[in-house]
Amino acid sequence: MNEEMQSILLSIGRHGMTPCYVYFFEDIKERIERLAKAFACFTISYAVKSNPNSALLQQLAIRGISVDISSGGELDRAISAGFAPGQISFSGPGKRQFELARVVGLGQKGGQQVEVVCESEREICILDELSGRMGTHMPFLIRINPAAVPSGFAITMGGKASQFGIDEEELDSVLAKLSEWENLTFHGFHMYSASNCLSEQAISDNFSIYIQLFSRFSRKYRLRPAKLIFGAGFGIPYQLDQSPLNVKCLADLINPQICSMKEQEQLADAECVLELGRFLVGPSGYFLTSVISEKHSRGMAVRICDGGMNNHLAACGLMGGIIRRNWPMWKIENQDKNYTEAEYLITGPLCTAIDTLGHKVRLPELHCGDLIAIGSSGAYGLTSSPTRFISHPEPREYLVLGPYDKAEVIDVSETQTASPAELSMASR
Ligand SMILES: *Cc1c(COP(=O)(O)O)cnc(C)c1O
Repeated sequence: MNEEMQSILLSIGRHGMTPCYVYFFEDIKERIERLAKAFACFTISYAVKSNPNSALLQQLAIRGISVDISSGGELDRAISAGFAPGQISFSGPGKRQFELARVVGLGQKGGQQVEVVCESEREICILDELSGRMGTHMPFLIRINPAAVPSGFAITMGGKASQFGIDEEELDSVLAKLSEWENLTFHGFHMYSASNCLSEQAISDNFSIYIQLFSRFSRKYRLRPAKLIFGAGFGIPYQLDQSPLNVKCLADLINPQICSMKEQEQLADAECVLELGRFLVGPSGYFLTSVISEKHSRGMAVRICDGGMNNHLAACGLMGGIIRRNWPMWKIENQDKNYTEAEYLITGPLCTAIDTLGHKVRLPELHCGDLIAIGSSGAYGLTSSPTRFISHPEPREYLVLGPYDKAEVIDVSETQTASPAELSMASR
């Protein structure tokens, strides 16, 4: 975190707006630009579920990337943020009939259509039926669940029994029937079998599995996919001892594979899509919380904050991690202070033992009223947290636009939260 970001966080905190999330859009924009440049043979698609904030989506829509949605609610968000149906893919293992009917309906008006990523044969049949009934032809992709996933990924969806995609072993029986679905147009394949990986080699190995399957099935069934979606699985550091992916190294491992894939005539014109969420927005977001109480317990200095697992489930290690590890954390204050460090147990305000933000965290001395920022919080933060648990007000969200020295800080909260006056009272 640089000094300018620090002073923006300080001013938000000093206005009594904690707990809140702060997203630095300039940082997100730079990441997108860097990625687009390094992976010039791909287009970029943003997974809305990683951070569905509407104001953030609007800013992303202006940058001309596509989005992947996984519910009717995310469809509403994407459309009202300015994404055209042709920029949207719809994935997810449990799409409901009314959600599919809505995307088919969008396609009826002529113009470009939402692409549906089908995750089972049953879903293809339903989409075909709906499409026929509504007199249109829907573009669809088939999500493949591969038999193998390289090691090195923190999260895996493929390589085992799962609700995601059609097992590679079952794909023949589905592709043999492609011509039977008369109201659909096959647009290509989708794969996303694992995520949150910090090893360039493992990601590259996973891409070779994707490419092998895309090639094998396209060749066997003489398909010319218009699109190949690569669920990228790029990870971000969640601990101070982890280092970020080296984008250039990653591109040098992956791009040549795409080039050789494109030498196959059937795949030569396929649009390759890099689909990712946390990598684009995660590192640019901070969760800001104030210390509201302090005490000692059995030799440990305890600091209790106004936001905890109800606001940020993932930072409490409750979103899939096996062992709870501390996330990157800073005390936000004026830079030029002399400080002594101490070790703290940092918790949220909830009456539950799982509400722990940090254990044995070394930070400059902390007292009531001080601000703590938790990094890597731009993805899977607010909307992945049980905000109604124990009935505290929902945290606010702020979007920081423009260069940091003349940044504009916008309140982009979407739900009724406590008024700033109530919040600043609450932090006393
Ligand atoms: C969630 C999701 C992503 C994004 O995953 P990240 O780990 O945030 O990059 C990509 N594709 C699909 C289909 C998803 O469901």
